[in-house]
Amino acid sequence: MSAQLLDGKVMAAELEEELKKRVEALAQKGYTPGLTVILVGDDPASQTYVSNKEKACARLGIRSRTLRMPADTTQETLEAAIHEANADPSVNGILVQLPLPRHLDGDRALSLILPEKDVDGFHDINAGRLSRGLDCVVACTPKGALHMLKRAGIPISGKEAVVVGRSNIVGKPMALLLLQENATVTICHSRTVDLAAHTRRADILVAAIGKPRFITADMVKEGAVVVDVGINRVDGKLCGDVDFEPVSQKASYITPVPGGVGKMTIAMLMDNTVAAAEKAAAAL
Ligand code: NDP
Repeated sequence: MSAQLLDGKVMAAELEEELKKRVEALAQKGYTPGLTVILVGDDPASQTYVSNKEKACARLGIRSRTLRMPADTTQETLEAAIHEANADPSVNGILVQLPLPRHLDGDRALSLILPEKDVDGFHDINAGRLSRGLDCVVACTPKGALHMLKRAGIPISGKEAVVVGRSNIVGKPMALLLLQENATVTICHSRTVDLAAHTRRADILVAAIGKPRFITADMVKEGAVVVDVGINRVDGKLCGDVDFEPVSQKASYITPVPGGVGKMTIAMLMDNTVAAAEKAAAAL
């Protein structure tokens, strides 16, 4: 392999050390950050994600509370839980674990979270402020991916960045963050004609597609920085959207799956929660 690994495990651990200090500084002022996670139903992947979030909170000294609700929870009950957490001054961050059961209106539920407590950065206000380049809570996965590039000292300004995927939680915010860093950004999606012609131009290529090993070596420019956001399960094993081994022969930097962007996502959730607590504490 010729590419240098962008190691999410190491970078997330480093970030956690910094976060611990910020939590300690808050504790000295008598303030403990609080995160409430709302989990509806018993989707096994969601259970794992929530348990990882609880563990991260415990490591950092963040007070976490998980509201586990049955799969047949009504919209009304879900919304009441959100309102309650909004009103609770000990709660700095609220996260509704997605996906929700089909009968629930997730967009409506997310829109009810106070923007300043929306530590996932999914609220329309936060998404809108990001698009305008204003101070806001940034969605954890793209924020984590950008953090990896910056931490590794990878130049972004003036570079050709190509983001494959245009979801509201990854592709679009990722493109906006790269734009803020003065990259020249192209967003590709399932209707893009001749995808490879675009990806081959990329100095920085971000794959957020949800298709195992979809980005092959012939789609990647020699020396490109490749960020693989995808998390796919093939024969019980995790893999990304990038065909890792052959692509890493061509890339200059690459994120692995597992151990890449995924590790940063939870670290950024913690970062958003601590930042929300710092703001709340400063306003007391
Ligand atoms: P979505 O399914 O919401 O979006 C996928 C995007 O990929 C869409 O914009 C879609 O285009 C595009 N796409 C699909 N097929 C093609 C194709 N053949 N050519 C070009 N573009 C294509 O997924 P998410 O954004 O939520 O997630 C993407 C991946 O990232 C998934 O593997 C997910 O598991 C992972 N993920 C990882 C996280 C982490 O912590 N590392 C967190 C969140 C997600 P169109 O819009 O036209 O349909």
